[in-house]
Amino acid sequence: MAFAPKWLKWSSGNDDRLGNTRRDVITLGVALAAILLFVGTGGQVLPQIVRAMEGRGLGPDRLLTNALLLNIALIIFGWRRYRELTSEVAERRKAEEQARILAELDPLTSCLNRRSVGPEADKLAAQAAERGEAVAFVMLDLDKFKQVNDANGHAAGDAMLRESAVRIRAVLGHDGLVARLGGDEFAVVLPYPPGQPEVVERLVEGLIEAVAKPVAFNGLELETTISAGICRSEPGDQATAQAMLHKADIAMYHAKRNGRNRLAWFEPSMESEVRFRSELEAGIRRGVPAGEFVPYYEKQIDLDSGQIAGFEMLARWNSPTLGVVSPDIFIPVAEEIGLIAEMSESLIRQALRDARGWDPKLTLSVNISPVQLRDPWFAQKLLKILVEANFPPSRLEIEVTESCLHENIALVHSLITSLKNQGVTVSLDDFGTGYSSLSQLRSLPFDRIKIDRSFVMNLLDDKDSATIVQAIIALGEGLGLPITAEGIENEEVLTELRKYGNFKGQGYLYGFPLPAECTVAELAQLDLLLEAPESAPAEQGAEPQRRTA
Ligand code: C2E
Ligand code: MG
Ligand code: MG
Repeated sequence: MAFAPKWLKWSSGNDDRLGNTRRDVITLGVALAAILLFVGTGGQVLPQIVRAMEGRGLGPDRLLTNALLLNIALIIFGWRRYRELTSEVAERRKAEEQARILAELDPLTSCLNRRSVGPEADKLAAQAAERGEAVAFVMLDLDKFKQVNDANGHAAGDAMLRESAVRIRAVLGHDGLVARLGGDEFAVVLPYPPGQPEVVERLVEGLIEAVAKPVAFNGLELETTISAGICRSEPGDQATAQAMLHKADIAMYHAKRNGRNRLAWFEPSMESEVRFRSELEAGIRRGVPAGEFVPYYEKQIDLDSGQIAGFEMLARWNSPTLGVVSPDIFIPVAEEIGLIAEMSESLIRQALRDARGWDPKLTLSVNISPVQLRDPWFAQKLLKILVEANFPPSRLEIEVTESCLHENIALVHSLITSLKNQGVTVSLDDFGTGYSSLSQLRSLPFDRIKIDRSFVMNLLDDKDSATIVQAIIALGEGLGLPITAEGIENEEVLTELRKYGNFKGQGYLYGFPLPAECTVAELAQLDLLLEAPESAPAEQGAEPQRRTA
């Protein structure tokens, strides 16, 4: 039997039940009348029958006998009808109860569902206000739940949701209500003593702790964490439960953005954050087809010779309203709204067009998002773009970050292998920040490791950073992987780095990332440009010629 909270009362169907009861009474009345008539007629007819059988009189009065038989038939009919009606009513009540459960409860967890939480929460808030209590509205969302589903199947995901609901209810006791709003999202509404939000905070911390404990499923230990957003209303506040839950939702997203597995209280400033975020989303959706995302290029230097070895393409957004926007702002949003692949492919096409005009010894590096690596067709798509641009794969290097290694490692392995088979090189970007294991590093056929800029920038001021840089360099030597150090900002760091060995480097010391036209101007000065490279030779029929100085 599904869980039905005790505060969930009947809210409809009273009229129907009244009608049924009335019909019951009438049927019972007919049967009672028939019994009374039976007693009356039977009282006369039966003695006559007995006397006739003893030979003391004539047979019973025919009319009365017929009336008696009719009465008996009526009693039997009335009784049967009464029994039928009673079971009909019972069945109907059961069906109504089931319909109500289906309409109000979530079938997986037996919590309230999205439809019923609003009215029930309003009711709870009104009752709490009458008692002079405050009410907290909490939105809960499992962190990275999709990964549990993807890695272990939907049955595992369902088990995790059911167990999370059980634990949330256990922590909550009988004090409030729990709803599952869909997917991995839960809402909790609970009354608490006014002016004591710490009571709520302790309880929500308890929820976070309870949900984080592993869930056993088919011999597996599933793990997740949960992020919570809380909004409170004190007695006298007029906002509806829906409005309060919306604010709690905003706070929950804030908790997610600040690292997940935590709680955040709603603050009004968060609403403008959300507005900015939706403006960003709308801007990105408009900007991708409008060509507002453009490649900038950062020099990569062979530290030994001091020569330019190639460029890393870094995306910039020329937003009509926000100006030039950094990729740290728009890449995560593009990933979330599913536009990263389209944006990245367009940027790579532009970059290949630009790089075709450079000296062929210069390489081009492009960053690839973990989201793109989840696409099993990614390698094919990239190779198609290369063919269309008639760009030699050996001049292209793709950079993947360590976070890719925590995803589907088998898929990443096959993607990297097929790219390498076509001649594309693959580097591991931002190394040292993502906790990849040595075995992962050895099992994936990388061509290069890039030391994260945070270690290089602090090389001289922070002993730990210097130790990490040296350890990564030793690791690269051990695995036979060449190294690029990013984030070289000044001569002092460069001098120190050069003591450690021979590798490539990049950073503001060599200049900021620049748009295509500035890069071309710089390369022209260095005599590192080809002539008239604009369109791909597939269209033009000829390789561009090296420009004469
Ligand atoms: P990244 O790939 O590690 O790129 C290096 C970042 O360090 C760039 O930031 C660059 O401007 C910055 N940088 C370079 N030299 C120095 C230095 O000396 N000091 C300091 N403090 N910073 C330096 P940017 O352009 O803001 O890019 C940030 C990140 O955004 C990149 O980190 C990369 O992970 C990502 N990104 C950029 N373009 C793309 C793209 O097209 N696709 C994807 N998926 N990610 C991109
Ligand atoms: Mg990079
Ligand atoms: Mg990097």
